[in-house]
Amino acid sequence: MVASNGRLKIALQKNGRLTDDSLGLLRSCGLEFEFQKQSLYSPCRNFELDVLALRDDDIPEYVQDGVAELGIVGENVVLERGARVKQLQRLGYGACRLMLSVPLRSSIRSLRNLRGKRVATTYPNTLNKFLRSKKLRCEIVELSGAVELAPTLDVADAICDIVSTGTTARVNGLRPLLSVMESEAVLIANPKAFADKSKKSLIDRLLIRFSGSLQARGKRYIMLNAPVNAIPRLKQIIPALKSPTIVPLAEEGMVALHLVIAENVFWDVMERLKSAGASDIIVVPIETIIQ
Ligand code: ATP
Ligand code: ZN
Repeated sequence: MVASNGRLKIALQKNGRLTDDSLGLLRSCGLEFEFQKQSLYSPCRNFELDVLALRDDDIPEYVQDGVAELGIVGENVVLERGARVKQLQRLGYGACRLMLSVPLRSSIRSLRNLRGKRVATTYPNTLNKFLRSKKLRCEIVELSGAVELAPTLDVADAICDIVSTGTTARVNGLRPLLSVMESEAVLIANPKAFADKSKKSLIDRLLIRFSGSLQARGKRYIMLNAPVNAIPRLKQIIPALKSPTIVPLAEEGMVALHLVIAENVFWDVMERLKSAGASDIIVVPIETIIQ
């Protein structure tokens, strides 16, 4: 039994692919707690929040039933379990897709060829919904794991399983046919949690922190010096989030520019800024951006 002590509860995957990133996200929001896989819940020292460690499959139901007001879980699991929860934020990690695949030598080449075939999956509800939307009848073989072995064991002609890249499928002698859904980790909430004033205010405060941390992810803060007359050229190069801050320097005719830049364009922009006259470029990580 989890104590109903007025504190907010957030359910995380106890031990799996989403665990480290979910803990990292909470910690990047300044939340301090000891997380032990073996203990059901870990209280935060500096926020009215308890972290519950659960199996990912159970998280949507527990959030729906109010055992925890919040939860972090893959969208794929939320959809499969059909839980009545509110999706608050996509979290940018745990990216994967639910993929229909067939054995390399299979004669199945298109979705239409699947008609009447046996498809093994641990996602029967999502697959069923998808097939219905395509007006396709198949025999769904529901398994609880090791779905990729089903064609070899001749219990299925195709499989529908989660993959993050094509590698797993290929190792098992499978060829991807079609993506059924794309997924990533999401923050979900019990819709009734917002009716409680103090819970709502805690959730709102957490959401601001989550957004700040997600905003900062993949971004860098850059400071550089440049001659005043280089500013127009530099501004053209900078894909800044907002207009850069420009500060005059003690040295006549020189300014400092401060800006935020996305990691994925970072090196390209850096090289171009340098050839346009920037010098003394300093790059620092950003912890959060509160807008
Ligand atoms: P649990 O013991 O909690 O039930 P699990 O074995 O069901 O764990 P994991 O394999 O840890 O779950 O995956 C958790 C989630 O990570 C998935 O539901 C999915 O959203 C995401 N994910 C990302 N990449 C992959 C992948 N390659 N295979 C499986 N899941 C992935
Ligand atoms: Zn699971």
